[in-house]
Amino acid sequence: AKETSGSKIEFYSSDLNEKISNQFVLENNLWFALDKNELFLQYQPIIDIEKNEIIAAEVLLRWDNDKLGLIPPDKFIPIAEESNLIVPIGQWILKTACYQNKMWQDIGLKPITIAVNISVKQLEQEDFPELVEEILNETRLDPQYLELEITESISAKNIEDIIKILKKLSNLGVKLSIDDFGTGYSSLGQLKKLFIDKLKIDKSFVNDINEDLDNTAIVSTIIAMANILNLKVVAEGIETQNQLSFLKENSCHMGQGYLFSRPLDGDAFEELLKRKK
Ligand code: C2E
Ligand code: CA
Ligand code: CA
Ligand code: CA
Repeated sequence: AKETSGSKIEFYSSDLNEKISNQFVLENNLWFALDKNELFLQYQPIIDIEKNEIIAAEVLLRWDNDKLGLIPPDKFIPIAEESNLIVPIGQWILKTACYQNKMWQDIGLKPITIAVNISVKQLEQEDFPELVEEILNETRLDPQYLELEITESISAKNIEDIIKILKKLSNLGVKLSIDDFGTGYSSLGQLKKLFIDKLKIDKSFVNDINEDLDNTAIVSTIIAMANILNLKVVAEGIETQNQLSFLKENSCHMGQGYLFSRPLDGDAFEELLKRKK
């Protein structure tokens, strides 16, 4: 990270005024982040637990500002959403990730799926499916290698419109997954109606495996029901061998977390793919 002392934003301040002005500073800088090339992507492997092979990568957005330093996504993505900046930024993310994935396939690496986080603000754009189609055409990525991660919050607002959009996306041949499953209100039964192929068990549940009996039971129940409904399951935030063993015993097919790898820059991820080929 580039660092300039003295001008770093203090995120731990509890003072409301300061918080608001920090948000203001962040938003003002975020407006120029794309043009100034301050945004970049990292890739975190998603593993087939049975085969111990990389089958996918989640794309994670990073922002390195010359004055503010490296700003965590939890701090700036909500601001990008409120200001609608997530729409052009999200478009850039999709295009960049699809190009990257196609490039890896073109140099002969084993094809993997690229999973891109999509904000509700993007999904609410009526022409979002057309945009995705254009990006697939332009980058020449086979749609089956693109997955869109959406959060459970979609099941509340504009449900009818969102269902139409999800149907169009599904018809394009891209995969849809529900992120942070378990933290919102959607039921497993609903997911089928939303054209969802896969769900990601939130890391807060994975973290509690063997520690909290209720959450451990929730994890095994989600996996069992997802298997019955023919939904694929990814457990996120796997950090320990114990968590992995539990997930394996309970027939969870895919996993992601620091136990396998932290999110990596494109080059480092490519090296990993080459070694595991
Ligand atoms: P998320 O989609 O739930 O992403 C998973 C987060 O968990 C990532 O944090 C990842 O680095 C972290 N993680 C992965 N493995 C582990 C682990 O074993 N232990 C722990 N403690 N954490 C792990 P990150 O990169 O800070 O992203 C935070 C959130 O920011 C994401 O949560 C997502 O909601 C949002 N975000 C990140 N990139 C994008 C993006 O490109 N577009 C949109 N719309 N949102 C994004
Ligand atoms: Ca995600
Ligand atoms: Ca998640
Ligand atoms: Ca999350």
